[in-house]
Amino acid sequence: MMENSAGGRRDRFFSATGISDGIVTGPIRFRREGTAQVIGRTHGDAAVELDRAERARKALLSSYREEEQRARSAGMKEQAGIYLSRQMILEDEELRKFRDSLMELQRYSAEYAVQEAFAYAAWAISRSGDRLLSDRRKDILDVGKEYLARLRSIEESKVKVADKVAMEKPHPEKYILAAKDLLPSEILQLPREELLGVILKEGSFDSHAAILIRSFGIPAVIRCEELSGLWDGQEVSLDAEAGRVYLRPDAQLKAQLRKKEERRKETERILDAYRDRECVTPDGKKVLLLANIGDPAEIRIAALSGADGIGLFRTEFLFLDSEEEPSEEAQFDVYREAAAAMAGKPVVIRTFDIGSDKSAEYLRMEPESNPALGFRGIRVSLMHTAFFKKQLRAALRAAAYGDIRILLPMISDPEEVRVSRDILNECKAELKQEGKTAGEVQLGVMIETPAAVLCAEELAQLVDFFSIGTNDLLQYTCAMDRQNPTLRPFVKPYHPALMREIRMTVEAGHAAGIPVSICGEIASDEKKAPAFLDMGVDSLSVTPRRILPLKRALCELQP
Ligand code: PEP
Ligand code: MG
Repeated sequence: MMENSAGGRRDRFFSATGISDGIVTGPIRFRREGTAQVIGRTHGDAAVELDRAERARKALLSSYREEEQRARSAGMKEQAGIYLSRQMILEDEELRKFRDSLMELQRYSAEYAVQEAFAYAAWAISRSGDRLLSDRRKDILDVGKEYLARLRSIEESKVKVADKVAMEKPHPEKYILAAKDLLPSEILQLPREELLGVILKEGSFDSHAAILIRSFGIPAVIRCEELSGLWDGQEVSLDAEAGRVYLRPDAQLKAQLRKKEERRKETERILDAYRDRECVTPDGKKVLLLANIGDPAEIRIAALSGADGIGLFRTEFLFLDSEEEPSEEAQFDVYREAAAAMAGKPVVIRTFDIGSDKSAEYLRMEPESNPALGFRGIRVSLMHTAFFKKQLRAALRAAAYGDIRILLPMISDPEEVRVSRDILNECKAELKQEGKTAGEVQLGVMIETPAAVLCAEELAQLVDFFSIGTNDLLQYTCAMDRQNPTLRPFVKPYHPALMREIRMTVEAGHAAGIPVSICGEIASDEKKAPAFLDMGVDSLSVTPRRILPLKRALCELQP
């Protein structure tokens, strides 16, 4: 813990690394162990929630009974015993009473009550210090998890209604989420209307989780080592830009932080003047500034951001937590919406970059010992061609509504592009035969592996544009996992090798007459952007909130 003396006051704070902007004050809420999601806490009607909780419990109980019977008939005694002990957890009278009191007295939603009751029961066991009971603790958490899943799956429509009720309550309790780390899919599930900010113990700046948090504009810090010094319900002030978590902020500190936040918002208002301006540097170079998005909710944000288009639509985020493979129709709806919202401006749809930290449930991928070097991006699409074709067909159909372009991720071999182009042509022919309307699309590749840089001349003959993914290019060039916080002291975001690779890519692209963009996180660095332009980069694609600061910096460049 650190202390800061200011105006006779002593502010106590934890140091962390800021990954976004904004200052918020509110109670901490820890993500419960064993549950991936933060769940809507309040609800409208206790009777409805009690009934839902009970129906889900009974359904799970009867499936445990069936499993037990099945195991017994097959002579699997041990297995049967496991299901029997799970039934006993679900039938535990105390646990049920506690769950119900949370719904009746605290007015918690069924999901929140189940989560709290099971987390409490697990905690109570761990407090007993009995090592023999630690398996039981795991079982309780596991049953709690299955119970929640059951509650969601059988009651989906009502859950949504209950969530809506929670949102409409006059003062839903807002909180700052604290967790060891979060996966991209977990961030997409956070109830944003209740979320003030995020504090993570681990995490890294360029991870997909951090990218999502930034693009949603959630004030957040990572690498808050002293997270265990915080507790549920404790009030803190989080200054994301400064990378500080203030403990027990007094009225004076809160007022000071409020003023700082107002100044930040004032700067945002000033930036507004740049929204409809073209980005032209004082020496007359026109630069395209494009938006990176990963969620349909961001389509509108991108359209209002002052961007010249969407330069990177990370489509894999669309269906990460879905159990079903995304259908062509569902994808078509989203891509068409993006095309229409951008009104003729380009929309670059990156085909699914699944794998590594973005494992999709519906593909049931095997765990890998080295996922960053594993089954990822174009490799997944080429292995699952029916799945790939659905996406290409959806994009081609959406191209009838705007300037849709297709971008292939994780390319390391020109052959991958040739095969992808063949599949794309096949999709075009099929759509024509079926009498479905489709448009023309440009095809581009991500340059994010050293192999792609070294083959850039050949690749440039095969595609219409390049987009340099510096996040991955840096990790693969320097052999440093972008997810690994321990490597932080060694990571140089502007490593000379990376700069050389950008230059080589631009030269190869321009020699073949195709434009080159940068869409990794470093593209939004106002100080470095002029150097990228000097190298000949044609466009920069950044999180929507960085468009205006970047536009102002480039328009006002000092000669
Ligand atoms: C990159 O690698 O720089 C990139 C833009 O792609 P992602 O961050 O989604 O891997
Ligand atoms: Mg990448």
